[in-house]
Amino acid sequence: MKVTQAEIVISAVKPEQYPSGLLPEFALAGRSNVGKSSFINKMINRKNLARTSSKPGKTQTLNFYLINEMLHFVDVPGYGFAKVPKSERDAWGRMMQTYLTSREQLRAVLMIVDLRHPPSKDDVTMYDYLKHYDLPVIVIATKADKIPKGKWQKHKKVVRETLDMVQEDEVILFSSETGHGKDEVWGILQKRMK
Ligand code: GDP
Repeated sequence: MKVTQAEIVISAVKPEQYPSGLLPEFALAGRSNVGKSSFINKMINRKNLARTSSKPGKTQTLNFYLINEMLHFVDVPGYGFAKVPKSERDAWGRMMQTYLTSREQLRAVLMIVDLRHPPSKDDVTMYDYLKHYDLPVIVIATKADKIPKGKWQKHKKVVRETLDMVQEDEVILFSSETGHGKDEVWGILQKRMK
């Protein structure tokens, strides 16, 4: 898909603030610093619309991006549960649970992981959490440019096995540096928008 228009429509904390209407929606999740903002920016051809993950203590919001007036991306605050105080973790959990269980037009969650390393404990927890809600997950294994092509399939297999992924969920190799995987991801999203 050729993205000609992308803008942040709202940073929401509660359902009353979510955009109205029934445009197809895709949420983006990933632990802090994994490359989620870079992924969003690459997908929408912008250098800097999505900003790097929020600093601790900053209000955690769901950032809704309207793309080509056709769909929403929802940038979910990065997770990294170990370092976050319990109160903040709980607030994050409540916000996520509310969003994930109430959003009818949510078509899939794109979960960003780092292709270089096996998914972390937090990644495994997140995948299990999403499957607990029966959500389709598309795993984006980013930073592929940092690994020789000859090792891609091996690393992809480690991602799939470590997350213990269900067969219907896909792993897509991606690079925000080179744009590898971008057309493939748009192809998958477009199919799910119908
Ligand atoms: P976020 O916290 O998940 O939003 O992560 P960022 O998008 O800010 O990325 C974290 C760091 O990883 C930055 O220094 C990025 O430049 C780098 N990065 C992100 N994606 C890629 C990628 O595909 N390839 C390479 N080589 N670096 C990347």
